[in-house]
Amino acid sequence: MNNLTKIYGEGENRVKALDNVSFSIEKGEIVLIVGSSGSGKSTLLNMIGLLDRPTNGKIFIDGIDTTILDDNNISSFRNKKLGFIFQFSNLLTDLSVLENIMLPRQIAGTNHAAEKDARDLLKAVGLEDQMTKRANKISGGQSQRVAIARGLINKPSIVLADEPTGNLDSVTSETIVQLMKSMAKKLNQTFIIVTHDRQHFGDVDKVITIKDGRAFEGDQPSEMEVIA
Ligand code: ADP
Ligand code: ADP
Repeated sequence: MNNLTKIYGEGENRVKALDNVSFSIEKGEIVLIVGSSGSGKSTLLNMIGLLDRPTNGKIFIDGIDTTILDDNNISSFRNKKLGFIFQFSNLLTDLSVLENIMLPRQIAGTNHAAEKDARDLLKAVGLEDQMTKRANKISGGQSQRVAIARGLINKPSIVLADEPTGNLDSVTSETIVQLMKSMAKKLNQTFIIVTHDRQHFGDVDKVITIKDGRAFEGDQPSEMEVIA
């Protein structure tokens, strides 16, 4: 991220959501983005996820300047390079667990080995035995495991997660956090995670704290307490 600024609206509605943010993330790192509500975390994740464009600044992914890509190229780049995990699993309830995981592969138009890879991922997230169940017949924690597998099916360079434990109880959160950490290490994939759940993640490679649209590297517990 190179001098990223994002401004929403204009005139009296003008909001500077990100203010000249720069940092870098190495391949395979687990990075947390923390900060109080309204600080700019989602905006930052939307920029990195190429879901929205910065007002100023550049975003390089695998050495490519994504800010010069047109909308078509951005979509295919996103499908190939990025995986998403959200607060709510957003599974399609008419489909089976296995079909949900295969979906991003089908959307990307590369069906090759989709079922085998989906089965392997299901095994990795510990849900092999739920494969044929419909997605509305499994628990919240299981749904989030499926969402993680779905986020990984296209072998993305970077996995972006927005409050992946935000809708889970403490015990389930713990298992989801451990799962994400072990998958990141096993697959050498970069995970960038927006979370209010700093404690559950324990030791990670990098923490970026966003405060009033500015980014700081590292935990700032004393400051965070004051903000909260
Ligand atoms: P966080 O994810 O940390 O809660 P956000 O990135 O959602 O913060 O928001 C940062 C600031 O930008 C807030 O003041 C928010 O109201 C504003 N904002 C976010 N998205 C938009 C938008 N689409 N239009 C206008 N203002 C927005
Ligand atoms: P969170 O605090 O959980 O990150 P928010 O409620 O801030 O989530 O934002 C949810 C969505 O609404 C985001 O996509 C964000 O860009 C958008 N959003 C946030 N604030 C505004 C706003 N003031 N105007 C329009 N959209 C907004």
